Amino acid sequence: MIIVMKADLPPESPDLKQVLALAESYPGITTQVHRIQGATRSLTEVYLVGPTGVVPEAPFAEFECVEKVVRITQRFRSIGRHDGGLEAVGFEYNGVHISQDTFHVFPGLCAVDNRENVEKVFALLKRHGIVTTRAGAYKPRTSPYDFQGHGSSCLPFVFDLAGKYGIKIIAMEVTHESHIDEIRKALQESGNATGVMLQIGTRNAQNFELLKHVGQQTDLPVLFKRGMGVTLEESLNACEYIASGGNRRIVFCLRGVKTHLADPHRNFVDFAHVPVVKRLTRLPVCVDPSHSVGRRSAGPEGLLDIFHVTAQGVITGANLVLIDVHPKPESALCDGPQALLLEELPHFLEDVAISRRAYEERRKRASAPAAATA
Ligand code: PEP
Ligand code: MN
Repeated sequence: MIIVMKADLPPESPDLKQVLALAESYPGITTQVHRIQGATRSLTEVYLVGPTGVVPEAPFAEFECVEKVVRITQRFRSIGRHDGGLEAVGFEYNGVHISQDTFHVFPGLCAVDNRENVEKVFALLKRHGIVTTRAGAYKPRTSPYDFQGHGSSCLPFVFDLAGKYGIKIIAMEVTHESHIDEIRKALQESGNATGVMLQIGTRNAQNFELLKHVGQQTDLPVLFKRGMGVTLEESLNACEYIASGGNRRIVFCLRGVKTHLADPHRNFVDFAHVPVVKRLTRLPVCVDPSHSVGRRSAGPEGLLDIFHVTAQGVITGANLVLIDVHPKPESALCDGPQALLLEELPHFLEDVAISRRAYEERRKRASAPAAATA
């Protein structure tokens, strides 16, 4: 059972204490308080854990400070919407608000290779007013002989440059729990020059111990990539490992699924699942067109397949876009064939803006169908 308190309730509110005391008076019930800081208001939710079947709703609903009482369904207990009972409020991290309503593009390097390239990318982002990026330091590679990423050694210069160019969030994959501590330490040593969203790659989508580790820390949000060979339901359940650990600042990322039916693309694009994930869960949804398409081929009109696929995700309401860029893709140490050139980024951003405007227009008409057709 989840008790949603009225917006902007102070954490020290005596009313909240009374609600907690009442909840804990039922046998076997413990409580967890979650505060969600949105762009304009803060929301408090009280989770009742234990045998809630015998706990009545009415005594809680009577409190002045309670907005509603929601019975949770078994499916997606922590991330779910529970038959529409919960709204998706999102979260704020390092000054950036991320929710099912916001929109951010994360262009960046698949893998950090050298300081010069990181600086070129960050400087370009600054020119475009972009404060969100991706940068891989720990790379999970199919072959042990391929470049594995520079690991913790590159973090100091990546974070320093992020501070210099006003980057607020870097999506950065971790493949082992020790990487979380390394990132946290390097962030601290940089004077928290930037923020990091821990990325769980598709290969680790069912690495439950890693999921528990990123879920049990609440400093850093998590970008979870769906498993490339498992169902959507299984990927959402994997996210439950993160959320049930206590970290609810999660973004769900679609990145295509592996099947030869995707040929000639690297993965079969699954962006039709954007509205599905938004409906089933409270999570903001990201799309990664680079790892879906995996190549720089273009349609006859001259638009790269990566542009087309991005449009599919954005026009259906994706909230984030991860996109690989590289100053010299031919010399990239990882995934060069799918990277956009830096000079292609302005066109990409314009193209993305067209799809986002179309989504907003479609959404407006859907919420006021009579007005739209009058
Ligand atoms: C990545 O984003 O760098 C990556 C390895 O992606 P995925 O886990 O989706 O393959
Ligand atoms: Mn990659």
